[in-house]
Amino acid sequence: MRLLEAIVDANHRALSGDEQAGLRPHEWADALPLVVLTCFDPRLHPLMPEVLGVREPDFIWLTNAGNVVTGPLSSTVRSLALACGMHDGKEIAVLGHTDCRFFQPVRFLLEGRLRSRGIHLGAAAARLDEFLGRLVNERTNVRTAVQHIRHSPLIPRAIPVHGLMVDIESGQLEWVVNGYDAQPAAELRQQPLPPPEAPLDPGFRISGDLPPIGTT
Ligand SMILES: [Zn+2]
Repeated sequence: MRLLEAIVDANHRALSGDEQAGLRPHEWADALPLVVLTCFDPRLHPLMPEVLGVREPDFIWLTNAGNVVTGPLSSTVRSLALACGMHDGKEIAVLGHTDCRFFQPVRFLLEGRLRSRGIHLGAAAARLDEFLGRLVNERTNVRTAVQHIRHSPLIPRAIPVHGLMVDIESGQLEWVVNGYDAQPAAELRQQPLPPPEAPLDPGFRISGDLPPIGTT
């Protein structure tokens, strides 16, 4: 069993009532620290990093809106590369969560909330629609993020890139992409890259471009 597989196994056993379930980080020293990209939803704060069974020194946490990765050279991927290069991150996990508010069909809700705070999107509203329309759901977004990271020339090929979901209520982990079983990174890099990033900034930092749905 490898690190992320042990993490998911321990998580499931703990939720089933196994009081002995847990990761022994000293047994995984060669695979830690773990670099994790999540949404910045504050409901995740009580879950991290305990839900993964790793200690804080072994946990490098990056967050953004909806754990979106907009391209292989995006600022988020550059941060992930620095986390691996400067803080010796050994594996990367993109961790989406249930009930993510960035994936609800909420243009009106989002626009209304922004308007109530005096922020008017104006012409950017149509582009926000386009952006939100591409974010079909949390799982698709996780798969797309993993694909972009794997395609990135900034991420060493030896680093597995995983995709998971966490239930925001129960803390249960679920696989989306097992990075150990993925195609070799070299093979992936021979495939066409997703469309280049396009300038898209509806007024806050959820800008960028995603590949058409179904290409992940
Ligand atoms: Zn979220």
